[in-house]
Amino acid sequence: MRRLSILGSTGSIGQQTLEVCRKAPADFTVEGLTCGSDIATLYDQIKEFSPVAVAVSDPIKGAELAKRLKDEGIKTEVYTGPDSSSVIAQLSECDTVVGAIVGFAGLEPVYHAILSGKTIALANKETLVSGGDFIMPLAREKGVDILPVDSEHSAIWQCLRNGDAKNLDRILITASGGPFRGMKREDLENVTAEKALNHPTWKMGGKITIDSATMMNKGLEIIEAHHLFGVSVDQIDVVVHPQSVVHSMVRLKDGSVLGQMGRPSMILPIIVALYYPERGPAFTEPFDPFAAGINNLTFEKCDTEVFRLVGLAYEVGRQGGLLPAVMNAANETAVMAFLDGRIGFLDIERTVYEVCSGFVQSAGQTVDIDSVREADRIARENAEEILRKFIS
Ligand code: NAD
Ligand code: MG
Repeated sequence: MRRLSILGSTGSIGQQTLEVCRKAPADFTVEGLTCGSDIATLYDQIKEFSPVAVAVSDPIKGAELAKRLKDEGIKTEVYTGPDSSSVIAQLSECDTVVGAIVGFAGLEPVYHAILSGKTIALANKETLVSGGDFIMPLAREKGVDILPVDSEHSAIWQCLRNGDAKNLDRILITASGGPFRGMKREDLENVTAEKALNHPTWKMGGKITIDSATMMNKGLEIIEAHHLFGVSVDQIDVVVHPQSVVHSMVRLKDGSVLGQMGRPSMILPIIVALYYPERGPAFTEPFDPFAAGINNLTFEKCDTEVFRLVGLAYEVGRQGGLLPAVMNAANETAVMAFLDGRIGFLDIERTVYEVCSGFVQSAGQTVDIDSVREADRIARENAEEILRKFIS
């Protein structure tokens, strides 16, 4: 029986995690839930799962929810404000924290969960992109497992679970290519948020869907894999695989390539993490090689001339230090501006490049929670400044 706190429970990964809990009530209890502002969904989740406590980042929405629960005599405690997810991450009633908040906001609660010794099932890749340099050593020091939920990393992890981590030569991380695969740069200039949100194979939250369209998602995942599996970014190749059936591959020293296959669903990687070190039951239809649409698996190179953020992520990953946190913050800021209709699609890339190239890394700079928080803050300010010139 795992006792869960689910951070970002109203989002795509959060709701799918609760779907697993719903189907396996004997295997999980839900002790804590958190969200940004979607108190209507959170209220329904409280009614169904009766958590000990919840958190709402938006203080006004949080107060509204607290009043409603009090009026109805519901005992669940409500914490509010930007730091409230960190309280839920440390609840003594929970042993496992699911990190499913989107963006840099997910880092701090995961950091506190590790400090208090919780097992981490991690979907929030921005935590490792920005803070992997101190998050991974801290987890080792505290004896805390970080179990990957991101599907590619779950695949890589599963391929290495037989003890082959010591034989790892290269990681072949797969990418669907997103909705704009095969397009030219001039075609990308005027694509709308609506088009960019229409992902061909995965249903996900807004930010990661835009990241998939720019392919920054793959860039973030390269850095995520570097931290999770202890390889340099130059040992990772991106393989565009539009069918999203092979979720990633590893090449071992003897040349053998292992991959993990499945339907494009996050339920399986969630189950793999939550039942670790055991294997869970089948909650989704198993992969069928004869099913329609998956009888023709293809693999191609990533066009880094068109999707330039992938190349940037390699360079940023090589340089390390605070630069990955800077790139992540610039990207989050620019993606939000694009979703709000303030800038064009390629302006995301322009903003991220400009923020990164203007960042001066101090030699020997310590990467810790404070320096990363500060780098994130400054990079957001710089990004806001830069993207203003793209607003027409
Ligand atoms: P989403 O936008 O659907 O959900 C985000 C959740 O975070 C919501 O519950 C929201 O209320 C909450 N949230 C936002 N800001 C918050 C804050 N400041 N404090 C507390 N909660 C806050 O996002 P998603 O698609 O579920 O993605 C979540 C994370 O998982 C992202 O880091 C994403 O990259 C990663 N991921 C998602 C998928 C997927 O299929 N959706 C796959 C792999 C990895
Ligand atoms: Mg992924």
